[in-house]
Amino acid sequence: MSQIKKLTAPVAPGGTIGILGGGQLGRMLALAAARLGLKTHVYCHDPKAPAFQVCDHHTVGEFDDLAAVARFAGTCDVVTFEFENVPAATVEHVARSTPISPNAAALRITQDRFEEKGFVDSLGLRTAIFAEVNTEVGARAAVKLVGGSGVMKTRRMGYDGKGQTRVTSADEAASTIKSFNYAPSILEAFVDFSYEASVVAARGTDGSFAAYDPPENIHENHILRRSLVPGRLTEAQATEAKSIARTISQTLDYVGVLAVELFVCRDGTLLVNEIAPRVHNSGHWTLEACAVSQFEQHIRAVAGWPLGDPARHADAVMTNILGEEAADWRVFSKVPGALHLYGKSEMRPGRKMGHFTTLTPLTKARSRQ
Ligand code: AMP
Repeated sequence: MSQIKKLTAPVAPGGTIGILGGGQLGRMLALAAARLGLKTHVYCHDPKAPAFQVCDHHTVGEFDDLAAVARFAGTCDVVTFEFENVPAATVEHVARSTPISPNAAALRITQDRFEEKGFVDSLGLRTAIFAEVNTEVGARAAVKLVGGSGVMKTRRMGYDGKGQTRVTSADEAASTIKSFNYAPSILEAFVDFSYEASVVAARGTDGSFAAYDPPENIHENHILRRSLVPGRLTEAQATEAKSIARTISQTLDYVGVLAVELFVCRDGTLLVNEIAPRVHNSGHWTLEACAVSQFEQHIRAVAGWPLGDPARHADAVMTNILGEEAADWRVFSKVPGALHLYGKSEMRPGRKMGHFTTLTPLTKARSRQ
């Protein structure tokens, strides 16, 4: 096992945080770092990356160009990532010369749905029943195992419903794995959930832990449309969600912000759907509703600073602006609340172009179940 470079002291103002990935999450991380007097260097393959517009330095490069990544890391006091499909080998490479958080092992597990679900299971936390699928024979057997109806997902590189198909019979399962070109996949039981929720939480270099109130999330076409806080989770469910995030982050020796996506079943059970080893769309409301947002919290964590208070001072509804909707920016500019536009010039269908958050006075978590 090669040496891992550890952060030995907090990164002082004026220091540089390196960010692998230059999307809107990187952009909001860079803005949060600037508020703390920290500089950012963003590394991304896309010359038009939204984060490039707001950082101190940027490098255009591929994530598997280890020489270019090493040159980038050499300019940083600490490196992090905003995109979970950065190759884990790249993170391991950086870790030899520059402190990097979250760690490569956490990234490796969360990049593979089969590994991830097995890991969650091993902690005694609940997921939908799942089975590995690589062949047509395996697909047929998996349908039986999960109870006749499921969602087939490629193990790697899927997000926002990409690389996944609903299957309701053995024949469909067999043809789906064929259509995936036999890419290593899993079949999950179809969960007839009541609604979706998530918990966004942070763990610091000192092992401290801070979780935001878990929002209820509304998806359209597999893409997050709205996060509501408080949502329908009861206080007991909110506490359970935070405890799930604590168990996962402690076991992974995680440093930074992570999100755990949850299905809330009709009987009140929480099932873990996915772990995102990064700041998360369902945490954008923290920018306005908390003194320390998820973005500042992540920068604080990876820079070795104390975590901020995750308490909420308002109720919030965050709404994503997707694809062509961004052309109506004049309409969104009139919405009471905070508007964020990500500086993306191309409006592809479903692409996250911005969001807005409306606040209302704080109420206690509603219990509507
Ligand atoms: P994922 O890419 O795993 O986050 O899935 C995207 C969306 O598909 C989720 O937010 C759910 O709305 C839906 N979905 C995923 N897995 C399942 C499942 N096992 N049962 C029912 N719906 C699912």
